[in-house]
Amino acid sequence: TDEPRTPTIRELDDRTVRQIAAGEVVERPASVVKELLENSLDADASRISVAVDAGGTEGIRVRDDGVGMRRASVERAVEEHTTSKIDDIEDLEAGVGTLGFRGEALHTIGAVSRLTIRTKPRGGDAGTELRVEGGEVTEVAPAGCPEGTVVEVTDLFYNTPARRKFLKTTATEFDHVNTVVTHYALANPDVAISIEHDDRELFATEGRGDLRSAVLSVYGREVAESMIEVAHEPDSGPLERVTGLVSHPETTRSTREYLSTFVNDRYVTAGVLREAVLEAYGGQLAADRYPFAVLFVDLSPDAVDVNVHPRKMEVRFDDESGVRESVTAAVRDALLEAGLIRSTAPRG
Ligand code: ADP
Ligand code: MG
Repeated sequence: TDEPRTPTIRELDDRTVRQIAAGEVVERPASVVKELLENSLDADASRISVAVDAGGTEGIRVRDDGVGMRRASVERAVEEHTTSKIDDIEDLEAGVGTLGFRGEALHTIGAVSRLTIRTKPRGGDAGTELRVEGGEVTEVAPAGCPEGTVVEVTDLFYNTPARRKFLKTTATEFDHVNTVVTHYALANPDVAISIEHDDRELFATEGRGDLRSAVLSVYGREVAESMIEVAHEPDSGPLERVTGLVSHPETTRSTREYLSTFVNDRYVTAGVLREAVLEAYGGQLAADRYPFAVLFVDLSPDAVDVNVHPRKMEVRFDDESGVRESVTAAVRDALLEAGLIRSTAPRG
């Protein structure tokens, strides 16, 4: 009777396991938008429109003119670990050319929301509508719809109240959504991408292919016109190319959030890249003011570890100081050439 009490180890039921796993992929409306945008880009879309209601907490709709899906494919797509993008681990190790490959987004989103997909293959004659509620397919039927795919997610987390409780105000949730869409719009100037919140359009890029016109649509004329082109191929060091746009030192904001960096075309948060950009401005920025930047850094995939965990966008460079030096040099050259900083800029 005085045996010590120890915890009993139990096996979690499937439903609980799935809900926990879902939280790894879908944390908030912005994570749903990210997954759906990536799917549309992987589907070769040239137009993608994102519309959300109440910050995405009530509704999210992503419409594309991509390759679409046949009925059998869309039924398969919402199952667990189903993808058309890789066959096996060897494909993954050889490097994937798509943004997605885990085959879990649609399944996961369907498990924690009411999901409707309407899709028709390019050049096909039959459209399909499929509905999922809380992980169960409730309807698959022929539907009249244009070529491409519309994915609608309503009542996110309706069946996981604990998770729903963690959502912030609609304004905050929308900020996260807008940030995600902005980064993909800037990274894909050849795709027309738009974002609407509660029926109000925030921006729409034209998909003309040039970065400056994407910046114009996203950040407005004043910012776009102040942007200076960066185009640099370092002779040495880890970077193959540094390209993009950075703003005039007087076109600034009070947060770093308009300083966007991309590694091999993927948006990343990397302190080292932001610091390198700021360093290039020398003393030309007012205190606590930050420029706009849309900067693309290309290097061999072997020289960088991109953590492609769905919720993270972090990178680690093998040669961090080499990366820092090249980015600073690239941005400084551009600013110097535009006559916006003096060649005696300190350090470097
Ligand atoms: P993944 O993107 O990792 O393959 P998802 O669950 O996001 O996994 O999608 C599963 C599959 O559904 C994709 O591999 C793709 O074949 C198909 N799919 C998803 N979204 C779209 C879309 N917008 N257009 C065409 N096919 C899509
Ligand atoms: Mg995907």
